[in-house]
Amino acid sequence: MKRAIFPGSFDPITLGHYDIIQRSVKLFDEVIVAIGINADKKYMFSLEERQQFIEDAFKDEPKVKVVTYKGLTVDFCKENGVEFILRGLRNPADFEFEKAIAHTNRDLAPIETVFLLTAASTSYISSSIVRDVIRNHGDYTKLVPNSVRVNSK
Ligand code: ADP
Repeated sequence: MKRAIFPGSFDPITLGHYDIIQRSVKLFDEVIVAIGINADKKYMFSLEERQQFIEDAFKDEPKVKVVTYKGLTVDFCKENGVEFILRGLRNPADFEFEKAIAHTNRDLAPIETVFLLTAASTSYISSSIVRDVIRNHGDYTKLVPNSVRVNSK
């Protein structure tokens, strides 16, 4: 069973994440979207909201599971029989950042990091920009899956 974890904050999930996850289900038997819990970070959406947005977006895709986790991604992999870490690349800054994390993870455990290049149409989308649009009452709906709905932020 080829299992991959797609770790991230998903605050909130965007069409960029959505595209990577959709393409990855063709490569793996199971894709675990894993929301990292970081007590030091301030989030716009609660853990439950972030999880619900992703679950709703992939309700018709049985290969996608959504979990939350604490601690090192490689420890989660070891405990859950996950062999691959999936990450998306948008630009050279992502590459440099991801390279350091992937090398560190390889030092910690024999787990491969697999990178998918962002789709051209979603390469400019980031959760932080989406949060900015939401905060300033802009139309965020073109940047996120339909499952992401904001009440009154
Ligand atoms: P993190 O807190 O780990 O940066 P994010 O939720 O921002 O979490 O991102 C999770 C993963 O999704 C990262 O690998 C990131 O590069 C990737 N990603 C984010 N936005 C896009 C996008 N528009 N296209 C492709 N990959 C993306």
